[in-house]
Amino acid sequence: LRYCCRLLDTAPAPAPAAPVTQPQGYDPELWAALQREEFELFYQPRIDLRLGAICGAEALIRWRHPERGLQQPDSFIPACEASGLIVPLGYWIIQEVGRTLPAMQAAGLDGRIGVNLSFRQFQDRQLAPTIERLMQSHRMASHALEFELTETALCSDEEHVRATIDQLSRQGVEFSLDDFGTGYSSFSLLQKLPITTLKIDKSFVAGIPGNADDEEIVRAIINLAHNLNKQVIAEGVETRAQLEFLIRHDCDQVQGYFFSRPVCREQFLTLLSHDHRQ
Ligand code: C2E
Ligand code: CA
Ligand code: CA
Ligand code: CA
Repeated sequence: LRYCCRLLDTAPAPAPAAPVTQPQGYDPELWAALQREEFELFYQPRIDLRLGAICGAEALIRWRHPERGLQQPDSFIPACEASGLIVPLGYWIIQEVGRTLPAMQAAGLDGRIGVNLSFRQFQDRQLAPTIERLMQSHRMASHALEFELTETALCSDEEHVRATIDQLSRQGVEFSLDDFGTGYSSFSLLQKLPITTLKIDKSFVAGIPGNADDEEIVRAIINLAHNLNKQVIAEGVETRAQLEFLIRHDCDQVQGYFFSRPVCREQFLTLLSHDHRQ
């Protein structure tokens, strides 16, 4: 954490006082939570449909509040984005994945951990070099990481965003497009950026099988991904019928409650070692 706080010193300077004073604009409670490391990553497995095995996971943040208990990201991520606290928090998240990777790999992880990157994090001009430094100091292999971007991240300040993504992907880090189909993406984004994977938003998955429009959209996204030589993941898979539809239409990976909710680190390690033994 000290490392993440030091990174803050490179941000357009708040007060030039002690390094851990609360920078202006941050919610004091959330800032204190970051200092005390009250945040925690949960992991939701991704399943490769050809192998029938866990092929990675998405890291999803939670806040273990001392009185209010486990808080879901929708209750604090928007405030972190608005104030910019998502920048140091985002570095803490990558650091935490780095600290956990050796145990995951020892338990048999063969694949990437997906980390959400919000549009606000790209406003830090040091994003790419800082991620590279974190990867080096935690000896994270670049093939162990994938960043999930939403279409809103990609619309802002295109040139800088693109340069950042290019720089990281040259190191071997991959990028996926999250919530695909719900934003304002144009197909030209897919040509311009080194995106390797599309994630079909769960709002479309919710309608399959049965809703003719959702069925057509899901089929179209799978075909689009494959025609562009990309992988495709369906998120929010809750039922066997959804799974069967996705297998029938050649989807590559799935993620959802049907297999597992996001689980704490220890439970994810258990899932991995069981999966590994089969
Ligand atoms: P997201 O990236 O679209 O994450 C997927 C959300 O769908 C997660 O909610 C996950 O728990 C939920 N989900 C997974 N499987 C199912 C399912 O089968 N059915 C249903 N109904 N839901 C399912 P969660 O964990 O509450 O995260 C919500 C959002 O918060 C994420 O949406 C993401 O935008 C944001 N978020 C979470 N962790 C981070 C983080 O580390 N950094 C940033 N920047 N944003 C994060
Ligand atoms: Ca995501
Ligand atoms: Ca998503
Ligand atoms: Ca979402």
